[in-house]
Amino acid sequence: MTRPRKAGDSQKWPEACGRCAEHHKIAVRWPDGGICGYCYQQAKRTRGTCACGHEGVLPGRVDSLPACRRCSGVRLNVDCIGCGKEDELHSGSRCWSCILALTVDRILSPPDNQPPSPELQAVGTALKSMKRANSGLTWIQQPHVTEFLQQLATEPVITHARLDELPASRTREYVRGLLVEHNALPRRDELSARFSDWAEQALDRITSPSHREITRRYIRWHHQRRMNQMDEVTRGTFLRAKQAVTVAIELQNWLSDQGTELAEVNQAHLDRWQAEGPTTRSIASRFLDWAIRTNLIDPSLKLQPHRRGTSRRLDAAAQSELVANLSQRAEINPRDRAAAILVLVFGQQVSDIVQLTWDKVTVTEELVTITLGTVEIALTSPIDEPWRELVAAPTHHQTAAHPNSNWVFRGGSPGRHIQASTLTQRLSTAFSSRAARLGTLHELTKLAPVAIIAEALGYSPATIDRHALASSANYMEYIETLRKVSAR
Ligand SMILES: [Zn+2]
Ligand SMILES: [Zn+2]
Ligand SMILES: [Zn+2]
Repeated sequence: MTRPRKAGDSQKWPEACGRCAEHHKIAVRWPDGGICGYCYQQAKRTRGTCACGHEGVLPGRVDSLPACRRCSGVRLNVDCIGCGKEDELHSGSRCWSCILALTVDRILSPPDNQPPSPELQAVGTALKSMKRANSGLTWIQQPHVTEFLQQLATEPVITHARLDELPASRTREYVRGLLVEHNALPRRDELSARFSDWAEQALDRITSPSHREITRRYIRWHHQRRMNQMDEVTRGTFLRAKQAVTVAIELQNWLSDQGTELAEVNQAHLDRWQAEGPTTRSIASRFLDWAIRTNLIDPSLKLQPHRRGTSRRLDAAAQSELVANLSQRAEINPRDRAAAILVLVFGQQVSDIVQLTWDKVTVTEELVTITLGTVEIALTSPIDEPWRELVAAPTHHQTAAHPNSNWVFRGGSPGRHIQASTLTQRLSTAFSSRAARLGTLHELTKLAPVAIIAEALGYSPATIDRHALASSANYMEYIETLRKVSAR
């Protein structure tokens, strides 16, 4: 921001500025003339690449273009002793960013030299990386902001609930936003909040303090972080996260019973633990992957993969028959038929389907097109028929409970879409969505390249590979060809 200029005064300041030609007090004498205070200020803040290639502050002028100190002969101290960069200096030969960083560290240092909590570190990082260091410094130095941050620094743990107990203010909400943005607090979202409450209680079941601390980190930096990055936490994510944490706790408590710390776990432990319990123990691989990524355990450790194959599966003929039934049977309402087709024919997850909005549905004379996530699905006759019916119904998106609802699958309460579990329940009267999905996958892998299927169905390539292996030798040949082509 440049200061607004006062009018010049040629009586008081007879010498015109070498840059703006106005009559103000001359602040400095440089090779291109006497420079007024305004232009001097501006010169210190001019950054860019000089004609000589030097990048940094360009306070001088050569051929009326900004130039570096060396090319222009301008003498000016813009060398920060803190970061070593060229920048406008604030004080003590340090730039504004370095002063901001020092100020943040001073304000946020916890009492009694305690190490700062991860949340507090995240606040610090966020504040230090504010784009405009000078406005950041101005903001942080306001007494009420300084006071709020100092209070925050005394909190051993920062949570949404703890923030709620502090006096309501814009500063509080701004800092809350920073914490969420930097993944130090989960986004406030119904399922995400429920997961956090659940996780707090789950931690109490952990018998060893060190395992409790590890699990706390796993919850925060893996699960809550992922939830923060989602627009809306789906029921599937919520349930999977609970399951993963539950199994992680079981494993660690078992290790504690053996007198072992997680850091000392070996393959024999894992094999024994898995053999002694239900097959769902293989879910602990999610926790172990995280523990490997964060260098807590030996990276070669592995669980036996969970064996599928016991799910009922619809073959292609049964699927075609169901599709025919679903698109014609009038006794099933068109909304359920529409959803069923997405699951049955396109293998989409119910948790994604319930979030579909009408602006993602396009109806033309020959096609109904639906965008689910990054996947575009084109429906042709006869399976587009339930969608056409829905669109044609005069009340398709307007009811008293949902005056402006844009959800295709609206729920029982105003403004909300249907719960994934409710829809699954309704569809399971006609078919089991899981069996149908596995069936779809099984058929599709014979026909399409793996990446397209993975994207279309929202599966990891590993899942697809397992199905592909089981489903077709042709598919293997196809992959071979791909490898040869890409190797060239
Ligand atoms: Zn000037
Ligand atoms: Zn230069
Ligand atoms: Zn600096």
